[in-house]
Amino acid sequence: MSSVMTAQPLPEPADIHETLPEAAPPAVALRGLSKTYKASGKTGEKHALIDVDLTIPRGSLFGLLGPNGAGKSTMINIMAGLVNKTSGTANIWGYDIDRDQRQSRAAIGVVPQELNIDPFFTPFELLELQAGLFGVPPAERITTEILSALGLADKARAYARTLSGGMRRRLMVAKAMVHRPPVLVLDEPTAGVDIELRQQLWAYVRELNDLGTTVLLTTHYLEEAEELCDEIAIINHGRVIACDRTEDLLARIDSKELILTVDRDLAVLPPNLVAFGAEQVGARRLLFRYHASDSPVQGILDAVSGAGLQVCDMTSEEADLEDIFLQLTRGAHNESSRR
Ligand code: ADP
Ligand code: MG
Repeated sequence: MSSVMTAQPLPEPADIHETLPEAAPPAVALRGLSKTYKASGKTGEKHALIDVDLTIPRGSLFGLLGPNGAGKSTMINIMAGLVNKTSGTANIWGYDIDRDQRQSRAAIGVVPQELNIDPFFTPFELLELQAGLFGVPPAERITTEILSALGLADKARAYARTLSGGMRRRLMVAKAMVHRPPVLVLDEPTAGVDIELRQQLWAYVRELNDLGTTVLLTTHYLEEAEELCDEIAIINHGRVIACDRTEDLLARIDSKELILTVDRDLAVLPPNLVAFGAEQVGARRLLFRYHASDSPVQGILDAVSGAGLQVCDMTSEEADLEDIFLQLTRGAHNESSRR
């Protein structure tokens, strides 16, 4: 990563921290949150969120993972006061979005999915405009600090159209930070972004988080959530179907696969391997599915040599989030089809 991408801490959002109660509430707390979009024209009512409970701890790098249409954008737009909820409550940094509307909006910054940057403004002008929109008085603006924190200081006066894709993304993040929110939300930050830029953005998001910003990231990329987030909520058809620390989520699935390549072609599966649930997946390849907690590997290897075979190669795979995701969403599907 180039030095240009090195994040620097921003000044603390003073008015927000000063009013904190003793026991700090979570960064985000949603309780019984539902959203039904009204029927319009051809489409009927849409239950985009159904009774969602979610707690996002302060300081976390939290992933909201779900397929397209799951309700991710609806959820974050409610948090940011951009979409009206149908029922339930939402608290941002301890502020109720209805009762303490001003403070709750001040506590969150949203980076939308689309790059919507006016190409004929400079980063400096865009940030000043945005600060104006958020009612930040000129004397309290930190435009220059934000630009250098995001590695855009030397582009402050360049037209946005001359910025690279990566710089534009960072400018979008900068725009979300003009009011110094403690919670930064990135809605699908890497959708349609090439691999190199994706890696840069991940590194950058990690840095922002290391510096104390609570980051909520929505994504439909399992890999992204697994790689980046310390906690993950999985959302499908408007319901949160899992929420856990990433490693605990992964530990839920204990299944492993072992593929052995043996030294000669097999016409049939040796009978003593049947008990181990072996499957022949190639002339010389055998697949074993097992639970790691049963630790059967030594037994399998003994049985293979007992069948007069030598192992030439072996590969093993652990379950990843994709398996968990498929399991959970399949479960949810079955549940709804049973009703
Ligand atoms: P995601 O961000 O996870 O892709 P969204 O929150 O955008 O999901 O959408 C959730 C569901 O609500 C989808 O079925 C979508 O079509 C529907 N939806 C989103 N916005 C509106 C709207 N303004 N009017 C009606 N339906 C909507
Ligand atoms: Mg979305």
